[in-house]
Amino acid sequence: MTTIEFKRMLIDHCGLKPGGRNVWWRAQTCPFCGNNKWKFYLYINVNDDSSVGYDCKRCNTKSQLIDQTVLNSLGIFGEQIPKFKGVKTIRQNGELFTDLELLPESTDVSDVQNYINSRIGVIPTFDELRMFNYVADPVKYCKTVSSNEFNPNMFINRFCFKLTNGALTCRYHNDAQTRWIKHSVINNAGPGLYTINHSVNPSLPINIAIAEGVFDIMGLYYHAGIENCLYISTQGTNYASGILHTLNKGIFGSNVSIGIYKDGNVQNHEIRYNKRYEQLFKSITIYENIIESDYGYPKNKIEIHKSLTKGRS
Ligand SMILES: [Zn+2]
Repeated sequence: MTTIEFKRMLIDHCGLKPGGRNVWWRAQTCPFCGNNKWKFYLYINVNDDSSVGYDCKRCNTKSQLIDQTVLNSLGIFGEQIPKFKGVKTIRQNGELFTDLELLPESTDVSDVQNYINSRIGVIPTFDELRMFNYVADPVKYCKTVSSNEFNPNMFINRFCFKLTNGALTCRYHNDAQTRWIKHSVINNAGPGLYTINHSVNPSLPINIAIAEGVFDIMGLYYHAGIENCLYISTQGTNYASGILHTLNKGIFGSNVSIGIYKDGNVQNHEIRYNKRYEQLFKSITIYENIIESDYGYPKNKIEIHKSLTKGRS
């Protein structure tokens, strides 16, 4: 059986449910902890020769390579595991995979479109809102991914976006009240970053744009004209966590340039990261917006320059 036949067999005959991004599939029962609530994720990428891995979101048992124990639990006996060419690293950062649709097709998105337009000066398309991990129904989302108690009223008049650890960060619709609240959904899921859900072309130079907030990322996405770029909001001034996130994703090398788009109230010398990171990338450059203090603005209020004094101490 070729690797692709093996993968198709798993997808077609093992009663799996989609688990996200077309590469994650969920099995009902984990053979290690016995949890039968579909928390057992299999990594099955039919577009390459990478290995099939697994990751139980309940007991945390994970492997880059499927084994007979898991195969048997899926009802497959006496089948050889084929030789995969690459081994995929199962994400270790607590990223949440769910097949819950964050933004169903029929959603009225005019409120969030108007809000983003008022901040950034661009009306995002429906597909862009999906790319921005906009969560149309945060109450339903929280009920689906967690059994933790929460007060549903906390989401009224807020626009919510999903973070990498499954938590939500929610912006109040006007500036008079507490602007952002964060609602963690899964206990101890690690720091949540905000990223835009799109891909880059690995055969071209890759840029990584790291900034503080959700609207910084949107402003950079629309107005900074950065080509082939992945965007990371570190949800605070710990910009180094964005570099670490990039490394954890396996994205580094002489093809990859890091841009730290700092807030105006952050001095260069306050931006600290492991010096060894500099050898892992083409460059790490600090930028600033010389018109406003951050990047959550329309295009005419964004002029980005290199921040001159070299950072780090
Ligand atoms: Zn388990």
